Amino acid sequence: MSDFDYDLFTIGAGSGGVRASRLAAQYGARVGVAEEYRVGGTCVIRGCVPKKFLVYASEFGHGFNDARGYGWSAENVYFDWSKLIANKDDEIDRLNGIYIRNLKNAGAEIFQSRATLKDKHTIHLHDENRDVTADKILIATGGAPWVDTSVPGHEFGVTSNEAFHLKKLPKHVVVAGGGYIAIEFACIFRGLGCEVCLVYRGEDILRYFDTDVSVQVHEEMKRQGIRVVTQAVFEKIEPLRGDMKRVTLSNGTELEADLIFWAVGRKPATGGLGLEDAGVQLDKAGAIVVDENYRSSVGNIFAVGDVTNRVNLTPVAIREGAAFAETQFNNNPTTMDYRFIPKAVFSQPPVGSVGYAEHEARAEFKHVDIYKTTFRPMKNTLSGSEERMLMKIVVDGGTDRVLGCHIVGVDAAEMIQCIAIAVKAGLKKADFDETVALHPTAAEELVTMREKYKPPM
Ligand SMILES: Cc1cc2nc3c(=O)[nH]c(=O)nc-3n(C[C@H](O)[C@H](O)[C@H](O)COP(=O)(O)OP(=O)(O)OC[C@H]3O[C@@H](n4cnc5c(N)ncnc54)[C@H](O)[C@@H]3O)c2cc1C
Repeated sequence: MSDFDYDLFTIGAGSGGVRASRLAAQYGARVGVAEEYRVGGTCVIRGCVPKKFLVYASEFGHGFNDARGYGWSAENVYFDWSKLIANKDDEIDRLNGIYIRNLKNAGAEIFQSRATLKDKHTIHLHDENRDVTADKILIATGGAPWVDTSVPGHEFGVTSNEAFHLKKLPKHVVVAGGGYIAIEFACIFRGLGCEVCLVYRGEDILRYFDTDVSVQVHEEMKRQGIRVVTQAVFEKIEPLRGDMKRVTLSNGTELEADLIFWAVGRKPATGGLGLEDAGVQLDKAGAIVVDENYRSSVGNIFAVGDVTNRVNLTPVAIREGAAFAETQFNNNPTTMDYRFIPKAVFSQPPVGSVGYAEHEARAEFKHVDIYKTTFRPMKNTLSGSEERMLMKIVVDGGTDRVLGCHIVGVDAAEMIQCIAIAVKAGLKKADFDETVALHPTAAEELVTMREKYKPPM
């Protein structure tokens, strides 16, 4: 046993920090964990989980329309924002309790406090105004929304942190951003009946996805009545009467809204942690630089999750936390494989994506074959919805290996989780072709696409 108060002290009880701390404690380490906000972190408290509840709520907005073609009449339906938020909060409280219990049951000690480094073995607990020491320190502080503070009136906008606690449903929303959080919230508000305008500085929204995905989502958003303004940024925000604000864009357009939503990116939460003083190297974005064992430039200080700014997703932070605990506290050296991580955008319709986008495959492989189809799913025939579905498979023409798969449409995220197994396992297009279709589903298209896509001449 070391002379330190703890074998491991973790700063941040989010996805990565909780998994690492729980496992390390289960393996017999003396573990302390500090959390300045709520145990569970971004995903549980103000990210994936509450967002998905808002997505579900918003999907009913489309569902009531679609139901008419199936014989239902759902007139005078009424939506209660306060009820949704209260129910969502109850469920988040429940999950928060489970996370706390799991940590305690594993034997970890939780400190409800901001924590910063004093030196490479000393942590200052601000809310208790005292220091503790640890042999190993894990930084798992995640990220925080970034706001362009150079825009006059930027403070009149909210971020995802506040959006989960709005007192009332806005009528007019302007969202800044073109990444997944911006798109998801634009669709959430639209489904709940708000007028929505999305403003993005680039040409194509969802630019980290396959181009066909980006185009399809853009089209579907427009079809739903979301105004999408590209190649523009906020120039200033001014308060008007009541809750209203006016946003002036760089292209001269003026928009009025009662909710201005910043979703222009997130930054690693490393500010003021004392990392530089302890000698921990950060990259240009402020993320902690780590090796494949999550070790920073200081031998006893490690980092996992969004604070390392690599693949900023919950399952990745969890895997990293587990790999760290296995390696350091269970004598079981473990690294993580970052290839073929499935991704989703819970837009309406949603996106599911795994592996290479077409442009990425073309940059790396000599022969690339594309199989793709767009169609109106069966459910949309009676409902009258014009929403279309996209499915695309990217294949290495040299080996027939499936390199990537991209879906936009109902249940895309659910489908891609299963397809990811096949793509990660290195299955070939011939294996997809060999698989018998399940009829009638939309997913059967994934095993019935036979013709290589030929771009129009
Ligand atoms: C709106 C939104 C939607 C998202 N949707 C998805 C999704 O659908 N799927 C998905 O996979 N991912 C999603 N994410 C990303 C996901 O939430 C993160 O990738 C994940 O939470 C990262 O886990 P982490 O452990 O690195 O950090 P976090 O979960 O962010 O945890 C860090 C914790 O550290 C605490 N902390 C920070 N500084 C200190 C300090 N000095 N002292 C004490 N405590 C501190 C914070 O309060 C926080 O609780 C979403 C994120 C957002 C914002």
